[in-house]
Amino acid sequence: MFDRLPARVTIYEVGPRDGLQNEARHLPTEDKIAFIDALSASGLPAIEITSFVHPKWIPQLADAGEVAARIQRRPGVVYSALVPNAAGLERALGAGMREVAVFLSASETHNKKNINKTIAETLLAFEDVIGPAQAAGVRVRAYVSTVYGCPFEGDVAIDSVVRLTRELLARGVYQISLGDTIGVANPLQVRRVLTEVLKVAPADTLAMHFHDTRGTALANLTVGLDLGLTVIDSAVGGLGGCPYAPGAAGNVSTEDVVNMLHGMGIETGIDMARLAAAARLVAGHVGHELPSKMLKAYLGDQIRAERKATREREATSTNTNTNTSTNTNTNTNTNTSTSPSTSPSTSTSPSPSPSPSPSPERKERAS
Ligand SMILES: [Zn+2]
Repeated sequence: MFDRLPARVTIYEVGPRDGLQNEARHLPTEDKIAFIDALSASGLPAIEITSFVHPKWIPQLADAGEVAARIQRRPGVVYSALVPNAAGLERALGAGMREVAVFLSASETHNKKNINKTIAETLLAFEDVIGPAQAAGVRVRAYVSTVYGCPFEGDVAIDSVVRLTRELLARGVYQISLGDTIGVANPLQVRRVLTEVLKVAPADTLAMHFHDTRGTALANLTVGLDLGLTVIDSAVGGLGGCPYAPGAAGNVSTEDVVNMLHGMGIETGIDMARLAAAARLVAGHVGHELPSKMLKAYLGDQIRAERKATREREATSTNTNTNTSTNTNTNTNTNTSTSPSTSPSTSTSPSPSPSPSPSPERKERAS
């Protein structure tokens, strides 16, 4: 194992959509825009910003058009949005989207409950999106949910995942994101599924999408990397997880993935300091601590480095008897839901952290 690891991986950030659609607290549009702009500044190559589903289904994302129109688009960053049908595509195109994504499930029951269609009907309905999108020069990605297990049916046949993959590629999607929606996959299973899927789809047409419900997401990702996959979906902070479904957890955290990849010598182009700043920004808005392990460790390191720098400054000031440095930040709270004050600038930061969001901070916070 690990003899075929890629030199570079593309992180597809899904926090603003997959993450926020599952958060109990609805973010004001301004805060979403500031969050996405902070993500854009981190070097992320692809960000799924919202969903053009009917607001009746996901009221959290009812402001899709405004968000899409008002974010600052950085050259080289792919911005994408979910579209369920022709009406959604029309809104997405109107808002200037250059990439959209369709979605379905590998299990009939989940698909029926989520989309109210059979899988065959869903594939047929994709024709209303894929053709017109391509005609407008817009790329189409596809999400396949419940690849590794269904909350209603349990096991999902590998055959149905393979069949769907082949079908979606034939219909013109450029990339298929294989989702472990309920976070049940294990590394051996991932190897079994991806080995079969790779018989009908080149590795560069596939993305991995793991939720970290049971803590296996990073292990699962390494298996896919070793099989040649180079695109990973993740959400900053590990955002997501349905607040109404006990035990549900969010996407694997972007910081955890990026930290692991960088440690393995795999490039992502992402600046951890700026990524952490974006995570702190959104943590302050969703009103709870984010599950990302790397974020906690990173903020802890920052605080320790800041304390050390303060002690050294104080020692220097005392020695020279010119005590001008009075910055004695004693914030020891490593809770990531603390408000994103200016990131402490420390020697551990590879580059300057971005300045805090210009939008007003929400003061109310859940405990
Ligand atoms: Zn997901």
